[in-house]
Amino acid sequence: MNADESILRDPNADYTMRDLSSSSMGLSNSRGSREIEITDVQTVMVDGNFPWTLVRVYTDAGVVGTGEAYWGAAVPELIDRMRPFLIGENPMDIDRLYEHLIQKMSGEGSIEGKTVTAISGIEIALHDLVGKLLGVPAYQLLGGKYRDSVRVYCDCHTEAEADPVACADEAERVVEELGYDALKFDLDVPSGHEGDRANRHLNPGEIRHKVEIIDRVTDRVRDAAEVAFDCHWSFNASSAKRLAAAVEDYDVWWLEDPVPPENLQVQTDVTNGTITPIATGENRYRVTEHRRLIEDGGVDIIAPDLPKVGGMRETRKIAEVAGQHYVPVAMHNVASPIGTMASAQVAAAIPNSLAVEYHSYELGWWSDLVDEEPIQSGRIEIPERPGLGVSLDMDVLAEHLVSGETLFDESWVH
Ligand SMILES: [Mg+2]
Repeated sequence: MNADESILRDPNADYTMRDLSSSSMGLSNSRGSREIEITDVQTVMVDGNFPWTLVRVYTDAGVVGTGEAYWGAAVPELIDRMRPFLIGENPMDIDRLYEHLIQKMSGEGSIEGKTVTAISGIEIALHDLVGKLLGVPAYQLLGGKYRDSVRVYCDCHTEAEADPVACADEAERVVEELGYDALKFDLDVPSGHEGDRANRHLNPGEIRHKVEIIDRVTDRVRDAAEVAFDCHWSFNASSAKRLAAAVEDYDVWWLEDPVPPENLQVQTDVTNGTITPIATGENRYRVTEHRRLIEDGGVDIIAPDLPKVGGMRETRKIAEVAGQHYVPVAMHNVASPIGTMASAQVAAAIPNSLAVEYHSYELGWWSDLVDEEPIQSGRIEIPERPGLGVSLDMDVLAEHLVSGETLFDESWVH
């Protein structure tokens, strides 16, 4: 056995365990539309504002599903690792295949982290694929829709990110020129008052500077847009509480990740200590990691990242738990149009969706990656086309591959 064979060998094959493969479960594929098998799984990394990982699942029916896993090293390798567990399987069994992969990848760590991210990309591709096989939009696979279009919030940047007036100017521009009514700005920007950043303490000058950014931006757009502010896990517990209290009189849509993500009790204390809405969630995986956060009252607005957290059904499960606690969902998103449309399909299918993030307005060619124009005037109109409802433009994809990547090999697809 050479090194490659050793890596691709199923490490669980020698053990008696919970095996959810179709052969082990004795499932029949010989009924109507179920006569179909997965024949291949491939990935391509795109050089976007993040190295997006696109996933394609191929079938013997010639129908292909496209998904996206949250960017990051090792994700394509993990997807390749799962190929043998998918080939020959029936793509119609999305839930079972998801559980099958979680089970098979337990040795690689499938409770959280990159393995869940890799599975997310496959899970999204399966929704695109099954939607196409059945001739229905992906949201229909999730139980139908609550809305025809999904609100998108625009993550905004300026070169003068620490200048409150420049932030307000950019907010006005994005509202008036790009048509968004929902924005987000970074609040972990230099103020000139910094002391020791390692201790996560906010001194009075830093708090005043952040309040001024919030004051200028929210005053400029007023009723034309809601504005969230992201702290990227920067502050200690007491500083986070002081900041959240200092902005209570302003129209803050939410304050995101004011404290580091590891300690749920501190997160809950900060959230309960203020009427400023606190959002978090992009660091967490699967419904299990979101459940305690929501149940403990640790979050006012939950922000899962769909192509990272476990995919479309897992995000729906998170939304259901959140809904039981009257918590809305604002999906974190830094994906290409594929992952973004997957998020929008779920946002259409859950009652408590606030908005889906768009993080690429500076890129220029984001929407060129697909044949459609997914975001128009700050909204994603949910397509009635089968599956996700967006199609990759292979010529544009070829122009933007990560160095060393090659396009999907579809020469053999019939
Ligand atoms: Mg964030």
